[in-house]
Amino acid sequence: MQLIFMGPPGAGKGTQAQLLAALWKIPHISTGDILRACVVAKTPLGLKAQAYMDAGDLVPDQLLMDIVQERMNQPDATSGWILDGFPRTVPQAAFFDKLICDVSGGAGSTSGKDCDLRAVNLDVPDDILVSRLLSRGRQDDNEETIRRRLQVYREQTEPLIEFYRNREQLVAVDGNRAMELVTAELQQALSGDS
Ligand code: AMP
Repeated sequence: MQLIFMGPPGAGKGTQAQLLAALWKIPHISTGDILRACVVAKTPLGLKAQAYMDAGDLVPDQLLMDIVQERMNQPDATSGWILDGFPRTVPQAAFFDKLICDVSGGAGSTSGKDCDLRAVNLDVPDDILVSRLLSRGRQDDNEETIRRRLQVYREQTEPLIEFYRNREQLVAVDGNRAMELVTAELQQALSGDS
């Protein structure tokens, strides 16, 4: 099971990714969580990332590529995973395509179609996202930063929906429903044929 969870901030991808990863006993890999841990620990990476995160901007691609490459090489990531919040840009997706085809032994495979990867998009309207984020109360959840993160999502991350749809790897789910209903639909859509 190799899954990417996409969707705007506040769509519930973190919650759903965590639930399903526990159910399927695969690691839940959240680049936001990794970055926040680096910020708290004041590592060199955390010091570089903090200003971008506080402003609601994306951390530069190269830093994310290094983080993800290192994480995917850990022993628990061999049989499957749910990636939450990565890739978030087209260059990150292209990098990742190449990385997992190599990791999963797809010698000579360059199209990405041979990989057992699915990309889940959780769709939720903007007004619902803003109220969900405001009630969450994370450090980067003030109104100005929320607006910026939604704008960054539309500009830089939303194009990935087409990227994965073109590869026939997209699973689109309505995220504007009760959490349990979304979980049930994801379970049904994702288990079984992988
Ligand atoms: P998240 O917890 O996924 O909402 O991520 C929180 C913040 O971490 C984002 O607003 C970005 O600043 C940064 N971040 C997380 N993942 C990425 C990524 N794939 N590319 C760039 N920045 C990221």
